Amino acid sequence: MAVVADGERVTPRVTAAWVFVLVVVVLVGAAALLVPWGSARSATGSITPDATLDFSAAEIALGDRLARLLVVPGLTSMGVSLGLTLVLGLTPLGARIASAVARPLGGGWFWQASLGGLLLLLIVRLATLPFGAWAESVRRSNGLSTRTWPGWALDVAKGFGVSALLTLVALTALIGLARRWPDWWWVAGGLGAALLVVTVSFAYPLVVEPLFNSFTPMPDGALRTSLLALAEEDGVTVDDVLVADASRRTSTLNAYVSGFGSSRRIVVYDNLLEQAPDAEVEAVVAHELGHAADRDVVTGTVLGALGAMAVVVLLYLVSGWLPLERWFGISGIGDGRSMAFLLAFVAVISFVSTPVQSEVSRQLEARADQHALDLTKDPQTFAEMQRRLATASKSDVTPNRALTWWFGTHPTAAARLAAARAWALTHPGVIAPGPLAPDRVTDVTGEG
Ligand SMILES: [Zn+2]
Repeated sequence: MAVVADGERVTPRVTAAWVFVLVVVVLVGAAALLVPWGSARSATGSITPDATLDFSAAEIALGDRLARLLVVPGLTSMGVSLGLTLVLGLTPLGARIASAVARPLGGGWFWQASLGGLLLLLIVRLATLPFGAWAESVRRSNGLSTRTWPGWALDVAKGFGVSALLTLVALTALIGLARRWPDWWWVAGGLGAALLVVTVSFAYPLVVEPLFNSFTPMPDGALRTSLLALAEEDGVTVDDVLVADASRRTSTLNAYVSGFGSSRRIVVYDNLLEQAPDAEVEAVVAHELGHAADRDVVTGTVLGALGAMAVVVLLYLVSGWLPLERWFGISGIGDGRSMAFLLAFVAVISFVSTPVQSEVSRQLEARADQHALDLTKDPQTFAEMQRRLATASKSDVTPNRALTWWFGTHPTAAARLAAARAWALTHPGVIAPGPLAPDRVTDVTGEG
């Protein structure tokens, strides 16, 4: 296939190349407009994050030790997953597996794609399972996971089921489109991918979250009243305050806001309610209301939809350049056996885009923290809450910089505590939180 226009006629490839450029320009423009770039930096102002202010030497050492114990299975699992997906997808091996699996069912493209894809995903998942179990055993022996092993296995199975179903439906549909319109499938495919991102983003809280947790309305009382009042003061419509039974899975503390418009709910982990004073729960919820007020889910959905569209068009362009038959043993994207190649393509894109997604997330999180401080005007409680969240999950409060840059979805605990102090400094009459580390606090009466 030629990349040049054939005389006056516009070829699909040239059109796709222009559409790709256009979508990327719109994506960059949307990211420039919607993401509060610089939020993380401006949040801490002149204050240098310093974990030793708020965490004792023992707490820092524990978080550091745990992070070291978890990073080995975590990175190995990721390496095995990516490596295996690439070996299967970027050699004829994956195509052969898809072909063999579909043979007893007549060898049609649909079975090659769906059943073949399921087997490929299963192979990768099973290969990474020992590392998942290793990480879980570290979390269990350190009191971070409260799951039983059957409970863990069930969570793994459900997680795999949800992601495999979504992946296979999307990619099988893409192969189906490529069979129907060999030159123009990327138009419907790109629009379909964007639509899928929007659908999943809206349906996830309603369909997927209940698979993992049960939610019960928070009983009437002072806290429920104050959380709803906080939302009202913030101008965020909230339908209900729910409690999630997270404690049967984890010892970490959390809350979130999900749903849209009048169906929006505040969800609070039961263990947060048990362990944190009401004022700190309000600080957590104030942060979550920030996500709702600033429409961060919409931002994520718009960027995700544009990104998905760009990826589909890029797939069309790349698959035209590569010798698919010779390298991967497939005749094109419309070949049912191309599922292995598609999975590899998606894995590479998601791996290389992780730092960008993390950076966007950190900016949104920093802005939500500012929102919480503006709303509650209580940096002391905010700081105590940040310390509690970090110590409850035995977080690494002095994390590796490269890993944080690549995978960190939130500013570090030290940065969030620095942001609380910076907020106090810029608000006259507000006292900045003092050091919160137990050893610092007791130092006052010790020999210091
Ligand atoms: Zn957040």
